[in-house]
Amino acid sequence: MSDAAAGARSFWAPQAWLVGGWRDGVLLRADSSGHWAEVAGGVATPPEGAQVLGGPVLPPLVDAHSHAFQRAMAGLAERREAGEDDFWSWRDRMYGVALRITPEQLRAVAAQLYVELLRGGYTQVCEFHYLQHRPDGRPYDDPLALSWALADAAQDAGLGLTLLPVLYERAGFAQPALRDDQRRFKTDAEAVARLAAGVRAAGRPRVGAGLAIHSLRAAAPDSIRALCRLAEGIEGPLHIHVAEQVGEVADCLKATGARPIEWLVRQGVLDARWQLVHATHAEPHEIESVARSGAGVVICPATEANLGDGLTDLPRWLAEGVPISIGSDSQVTRSWVEELRWLEYGQRLALRQRNVGAEPGVQPATAARLFDAALAASAAPAGLARWGLVAGARADFLVLDPQDASLLGVPASHRLDALVFTSPGDAIRDVYVAGKRVVAERRHAAQDAIAARFAEAMRALWETDAGAPVSDPP
Ligand SMILES: [Zn+2]
Repeated sequence: MSDAAAGARSFWAPQAWLVGGWRDGVLLRADSSGHWAEVAGGVATPPEGAQVLGGPVLPPLVDAHSHAFQRAMAGLAERREAGEDDFWSWRDRMYGVALRITPEQLRAVAAQLYVELLRGGYTQVCEFHYLQHRPDGRPYDDPLALSWALADAAQDAGLGLTLLPVLYERAGFAQPALRDDQRRFKTDAEAVARLAAGVRAAGRPRVGAGLAIHSLRAAAPDSIRALCRLAEGIEGPLHIHVAEQVGEVADCLKATGARPIEWLVRQGVLDARWQLVHATHAEPHEIESVARSGAGVVICPATEANLGDGLTDLPRWLAEGVPISIGSDSQVTRSWVEELRWLEYGQRLALRQRNVGAEPGVQPATAARLFDAALAASAAPAGLARWGLVAGARADFLVLDPQDASLLGVPASHRLDALVFTSPGDAIRDVYVAGKRVVAERRHAAQDAIAARFAEAMRALWETDAGAPVSDPP
């Protein structure tokens, strides 16, 4: 039975991942709004009218931290010409793209990214969005011009979007104004609240909004408190970059007498709405405080490796039960499979142990423990009430190909282990959002047109930059 067939809102999977493991014979029934009305295991034969899915079904994950425009520099910052290279020199190059990208180019770049994220197993993306103004720093006639570029891209690709306008007002703890090359980012607390309200008021399907604070270095304490007061009257998540860099931790200590997470804890504002992005350099007492607050952390393993940020204390975050979601951040990796692999591999390399993420006696399978943690933590950063293969959640799912080389011959009991820990693999065959198939047989219906617009945007973006590889277009 094809998707187009009338009433194709019920699906039957030979197996699906329900609450920590594979269940046989799973009926998935979506309501007319594209949300699950019923998810039931142990249904031995497909009921009349249900679409039979040709492989095991996994829930997708939320990409909880993305800067879409940075897709335009993935692979273009991997050379060291002189001296040392670190996060801060990377950031200066990233600003080069941020300063010249147009709304049309942002849409083209983001649409390519979003198709790749769907292919990589994500069906909702949280955009930590700080590009607000024209390249010269003047506001657009519509202050949401660049937000709509992202929303249009999400619509082009067919995934859900949580827009997080960012409070961004200064260059550092001791620099009360922005640098000239940060002129497109300037906001204050009221502007951020207005941007979020504008996104919500538009009522676009599958587009929501929350609030964000760039970091403690980029927003003054009074402004952060002002945004927290405004947030009391606004629904949705509150994201902040925190403790990503040791330099940032040192500057925060010097300016405030507290480490970044300590500072947030002392304000008494943290709760389950808060998403601490990176939280790489967190001491045990800070992790315990975050656990008590109910806040989540968003770990971006590939980006944190790429930028040389450092490694977070994964065993302690897990042991404290802090919600851990995954973000693609700088877009060097657009696959949660690879993110989970590197989340674990970083720990193995640092600790010289294996299966660091496992919990003997409870969940000995590392892939299952990390995946279930990220799955359980997916709803909150996106501002959604529910996520996954559960009643009330949006009817999103992935269909795996058991014939893919990464899964071939692997028993079902170890399928998720093989998915995460063997490569190369291309096992995600179909992707559904709100009950509709957006990736079929590994192809997105609009992928060729989207790729062509992306290639054109890349040419236009990089031919104006003297240091970029124009002679070797993508
Ligand atoms: Zn970020």
